[in-house]
Amino acid sequence: MKELASLNHYFWKYRKRFFIGIFFVIASNYFAVLAPQITGYVISLVQQRLPGAKPGVPYNAHDGIVNSFIRLINGNEFSFGWLIAICSLSILFIAIVRGILMFFMRQTIIVMSRHIEFDQKNQVFDQYQRLNTSFYKQNSTGDLMNRISEDVSRVRMYTGPAVMYLINLVTLIGFCIVNMLSKDVNLTLLVLAPLPLLAITIYKVNSIINKKSESIQQHLSNLTTNAQESYSGIRVIKSFVQEKAMLGFFNHNSEQYKANAISLAKVEALYFPSMALMIGISTLITIFVGGMQAMEDPSKVGTIVEFVIYINMLTFPVSAIGWTASMIQRAAASQKRLNEFLQIEPAIQDHPTVLEDEPVSGTIEFKHVNFTYPHTGIKAIQGLNLSVSRGEKVLILGKTGSGKSTLAQLLLRFYEPDQGTITIGSKPLQLYSLKQLRSNISYVQQDVFLFSDTVANNIRFGVSEHTTIERVQEAAKSASIHEEIMGFENGYETLIGERGVTLSGGQKQRISIARALIKAPEIVLFDDCLSAVDAKTEKHIIGHLYEYLKAKTALIVTHRIFAGFKFDQIIVLEDGIIIEQGTHEDLMNLNGYYAELYKLQLQTDRESSF
Ligand code: ADP
Ligand code: MG
Repeated sequence: MKELASLNHYFWKYRKRFFIGIFFVIASNYFAVLAPQITGYVISLVQQRLPGAKPGVPYNAHDGIVNSFIRLINGNEFSFGWLIAICSLSILFIAIVRGILMFFMRQTIIVMSRHIEFDQKNQVFDQYQRLNTSFYKQNSTGDLMNRISEDVSRVRMYTGPAVMYLINLVTLIGFCIVNMLSKDVNLTLLVLAPLPLLAITIYKVNSIINKKSESIQQHLSNLTTNAQESYSGIRVIKSFVQEKAMLGFFNHNSEQYKANAISLAKVEALYFPSMALMIGISTLITIFVGGMQAMEDPSKVGTIVEFVIYINMLTFPVSAIGWTASMIQRAAASQKRLNEFLQIEPAIQDHPTVLEDEPVSGTIEFKHVNFTYPHTGIKAIQGLNLSVSRGEKVLILGKTGSGKSTLAQLLLRFYEPDQGTITIGSKPLQLYSLKQLRSNISYVQQDVFLFSDTVANNIRFGVSEHTTIERVQEAAKSASIHEEIMGFENGYETLIGERGVTLSGGQKQRISIARALIKAPEIVLFDDCLSAVDAKTEKHIIGHLYEYLKAKTALIVTHRIFAGFKFDQIIVLEDGIIIEQGTHEDLMNLNGYYAELYKLQLQTDRESSF
């Protein structure tokens, strides 16, 4: 339970609401226990009118206010009918006041829990953004989503309902027991005896229900994934004639879900009967033992009626002990997960000595860089040396898996080299703040990602949202996508994503190039970002890029050689090692990988131009 202690500062933050809420809980319960006392008085009144009634001891309530009230109406010579009417109305009045107080109790405590939930969600989201890319490689999206939705909601069940019911429970039970004890100690102990049993039973039943619901949730999620995959893979299913097999698979999952849901229904069906049984036993004891006493002392009848009302009032709070306890348990488990997650320190972060506004410019140098992916042990970069002067254009070639993307990610400090150093302008990367470093490098990654937003907003993603549409269009023109965007129904305001237009791979790539070009950076890093673009468009883009890149340092990763683009330096990677390095002429003379690729491409270009 100690995990939940980390939430205490939130209670303190919203202490005003919290304390006012506690006050409302206490006040509403105080009003709640007034009604049975008035009822007890009414019964004693009726009893005195019964034929052959002996003048008994006058009714004496525990509460001072009720006693004053009784004295007040006794003082006025009301008729019997009037007395009953006044008492009934006062019971109604008490119920209304209690209702109003309960409204404010929810308005304060539940609202407080919503505020805490909001803060916590922001805290979790902030931590997600702080963590490095390597964290995301090790955790599944579903698991990450659960933290921010499921876990935070469960914690809210503690800060809201559980805390509210707990305070409610303690105060109501307190008031009831004090009132009951003041009337009859022995009867109170007898009557309350079954209630702990009720609390334990409810707790047990609830734990079973929770366990079963969780398993149902899991099956439901399997079923949803199953259905979702069938929809999106429908063409594959049909072309491989696997409809029957898929149906069988779905049926099997569905069957498991049904079996679980039915078994949950069985347990749930036990819930209320077991509660009713315990309450029944308590009521029975009250009537039986109290009835025996009343036979000797008829003035006890009022007390018995009062007790029966208390028992019924206690039903809900006592059964709430059970589910409040299991709610708190679940919240503690969730908070434990959240605490563990919030305590993760990002492996890569700003050093305390960073130069905040240091301009990121000058020669880029990789010196004896080695890098191994920590969780797979793959040696992605080995003994790499590379020096790129300011304004140079470098072509990085190599087969898939040769380490090209890793090289780009090292420069952006998504990962840190195991050995060697990377410097820009003779300063190690660690000397720059991450913000400064990354905002000065325009990176177009290999797997394009666009947000479900308008085309214009996707392009101006990395710059101010107030960037003019003219600048957006200019970037789009440089990326050779402007004309196609104008062809969409809503032009630059067209929505992208599931509910918007479907873009081709090449269109997506060019929009993400436009997003990089609008940034006006010092260094440009293109990672195979023209792979889905046809040769003609590629030529077009390269023409534009040539102009754009004139004053910039550019590292361009590709598996195809751009014709008509003069590179100052070309490197060829294989298994993380540079196998060829030099100018076009150098590498042609070497007659290796580059020369072969060049000749091959020349041939295809010639063929396609026929
Ligand atoms: P390229 O971009 O040239 O295709 P990469 O730099 O993506 O090559 O990959 C280099 C090697 O590192 C490959 O063997 C690849 O499987 C491995 N690799 C790439 N990314 C990761 C990662 N996040 N975790 C573990 N291994 C990776
Ligand atoms: Mg790659």
